[in-house]
Amino acid sequence: DAIANQIAAGEVVQRPASVVKELMENSIDAGASFVQLIVKEAGKVSIQVIDDGKGMSPQDALMCFERHATSKISKAEDLFAIHTMGFRGEALASIASVAQVELKTKREEDELGSLLRMEASVLKANEQVAVPKGTSILVKNLFYNIPARRNFLKSNPVEMRHILDEFQRIALANPEIKFSFIQNEQETYSLPVEKLGKRIVDLFGKTYREQLAACEENTNYVSIKGYVGRPEYAKKTRGEQFFFVNNRFIKSSYLHHAVMSAYERLVPEGTFPFYVLFLTLDPSHIDINVHPTKTEIKFDDERSIYAILQAAIRKTLSLNHL
Ligand code: ADP
Ligand code: MG
Repeated sequence: DAIANQIAAGEVVQRPASVVKELMENSIDAGASFVQLIVKEAGKVSIQVIDDGKGMSPQDALMCFERHATSKISKAEDLFAIHTMGFRGEALASIASVAQVELKTKREEDELGSLLRMEASVLKANEQVAVPKGTSILVKNLFYNIPARRNFLKSNPVEMRHILDEFQRIALANPEIKFSFIQNEQETYSLPVEKLGKRIVDLFGKTYREQLAACEENTNYVSIKGYVGRPEYAKKTRGEQFFFVNNRFIKSSYLHHAVMSAYERLVPEGTFPFYVLFLTLDPSHIDINVHPTKTEIKFDDERSIYAILQAAIRKTLSLNHL
């Protein structure tokens, strides 16, 4: 029901960036090869994600706004063993409870697709329409029915920064997917299919071409792959440090510390090198994640992972004579 959805929304949908994350992850899960993000007024007016993924049947289109209507798995036993980004079946129901949503979707095999409109969990329209294969979800006037939440949104630059963070994380984790990001009618990112190194340059700028050093390490416990920045490019501001564990973006002050320890005496105190690091390990070594936004993590052998990561970065820095 609407109230339960709104309560769930309190956890899943904190701000426009949460909507961006959930919609883009759904597009990835749907096997899209091109994902477009279109945002107006930092997502306060509208957020739209268009993909060319597998689409939904008319029945699934109706179902997707039901809570726990995930088509992905029945029980989330181990988040990091799951191959899809989503699994709770909570995001669309939550979003639809706190916004006006328009869904257009069509599968390859269907002649006509579906157009659905939802307002605060209420179905307002359901029609058969001619649309391209794939899915478009437009979310308008987020929190329009919860003024207290709407008033809590930060300034456009702050909300935009959060949206860009989500976009960057997803674009980094999926360089084999093409992305476009349009803000207030202007395309600010157009990312072709590419390798990680080139994706980093396309996202962060040409100067990153010279500053990246490739990092790779394989042990029985974990394999590490990615790029780290040359020490002389370290910045006073944070925000360009990325860890992905089994292709999920995570935050870890512990892992960050391991990286920083490898840069000790190479960068001035209070500055931070760029890094994008992918850690792959058996999901049984990772603690089940209970937080709905899914960015915290625990490893069964924290000391090992710290030591392996630190050694891998040290090796990269010394091999590159940095
Ligand atoms: P979850 O991703 O956890 O399954 P969501 O609420 O995010 O839950 O989505 C509900 C369901 O709607 C998904 O399981 C999927 O079947 C369908 N769905 C959502 N977005 C898309 C999309 N872009 N393309 C195809 N199907 C989608
Ligand atoms: Mg989802």
